[in-house]
Amino acid sequence: MAAATMEKVVNLCKRRGFVFPGSEIYGGLGSSLDYGPLGVELKRNVKDAWWRAVVTGRDDVVGIDAALIMHPAVWEASGHLAGFTDPLVDCRNCKQRFRADDLQGTTCPACGGELTEARQFNLMFKTFVGPMEDTAHVAYLRPETAQGIFVNFRNVVETSRLKIPFGIAQIGKSFRNEITPGNFLFRTREFEQMELEFFVRPGDDDSWFEHWREERLRWYTDLGLSAERLRVRPHGADELAHYAKACCDVEYRFPFGWAELEGIANRTDFDLRRHAEHSGKDLSYFDDERRERFVPYVIEPSAGADRSTLAFLLDAYDEDEVEGEPRIVLRLHPKLAPYKAAVFPLLRKDGQPERARRIYDALRRHFPVDYDQAGSIGKRYRRQDEVGTPFGITVDHQTMQDGTVTLRDRDAMSQVRVAEDRVVEELRARIG
Ligand code: ATP
Repeated sequence: MAAATMEKVVNLCKRRGFVFPGSEIYGGLGSSLDYGPLGVELKRNVKDAWWRAVVTGRDDVVGIDAALIMHPAVWEASGHLAGFTDPLVDCRNCKQRFRADDLQGTTCPACGGELTEARQFNLMFKTFVGPMEDTAHVAYLRPETAQGIFVNFRNVVETSRLKIPFGIAQIGKSFRNEITPGNFLFRTREFEQMELEFFVRPGDDDSWFEHWREERLRWYTDLGLSAERLRVRPHGADELAHYAKACCDVEYRFPFGWAELEGIANRTDFDLRRHAEHSGKDLSYFDDERRERFVPYVIEPSAGADRSTLAFLLDAYDEDEVEGEPRIVLRLHPKLAPYKAAVFPLLRKDGQPERARRIYDALRRHFPVDYDQAGSIGKRYRRQDEVGTPFGITVDHQTMQDGTVTLRDRDAMSQVRVAEDRVVEELRARIG
């Protein structure tokens, strides 16, 4: 298997319409990226797979979709206003900026110049609500989706029949004015998070922490990430946030090294207690079987949709040779692939294009599929391999006689004949 490099994957993403540099016609905007026609499908499939695994596939989790701009008091209570900071240092010589905790030595890694003292830089994006640009109207773009869940805890408990343990999940944009964004989709200033707050009875928190650590790790491998490029790294006591009882990161071996894909934390009752204090509202839970009132503990698996999309792309990237020709192939899991299949007429005559088009129209009602009749059949296969389309359906001379098509598998490179009217069923079984 060819090792993917960032450069190869970034180029492929640009060339085939997965991810473009943001605002490119104006020269781009540092670390702002736009998803193109294929990237939007891939990322949506990642989010759908998460939502199915964490929300709709379970009977103990519900979803919400909260506002991006929340009451500023939320960030006071959560501790973000005071503490959501990174230590920033400047080089007095070349003026570059660094995160102090990223630096090894005491001089500028770019020019060797002298560095300033570190100062705390708050990562939240500030804005104003309404026409008055004064301190009374300051608001923030949310730096995480989790707080939208905590502030709706009571609403959800009162309007659903959920009993503890239960979870509330959310997928949405978050904003952080990162000092050093970079590595393509890995760290941007605007990104999407997939977060779950799973509320449990204090005392049951350790076993639920383990449950979610296992579930979340399995999610990545079930969708095709290589187990040898994944690991769970428990945080040491010195790394733990003051409110967290335990925390671990699911890490992936990116070309630039091991780095966090997702954090899983036991946040105890910190958030609900803080919001209860600051809002003056009771955020405890009444267990009517045991006739007990308590503030639940919460286990939080917090993943990045863009970071995992990058990991799925890197992991799927491969180069091999087919019939003496080099090929680039994205071995994406069929559930994640933007197109599930592509339909080709072998020849552009003898009624084959019309027949292929009919099959394409029928399949499109069930799956996202592509149609391609341009160039040699080999070229058309390569084009689909490069964007990860797992199956190819070819209409040929025999189709016109017996109504069967060939079904080609991207990875096994095998071809079998399938009756035209069984293609949907066959694809569904193979996609899983
Ligand atoms: P890091 O240490 O990499 O800055 P973090 O520990 O601050 O990340 P969390 O606050 O735990 O990150 O956020 C949960 C998840 O959100 C991360 O695991 C990551 O997948 C995603 N995420 C966080 N910041 C960014 C970012 N700037 N760009 C893309 N994804 C991000």
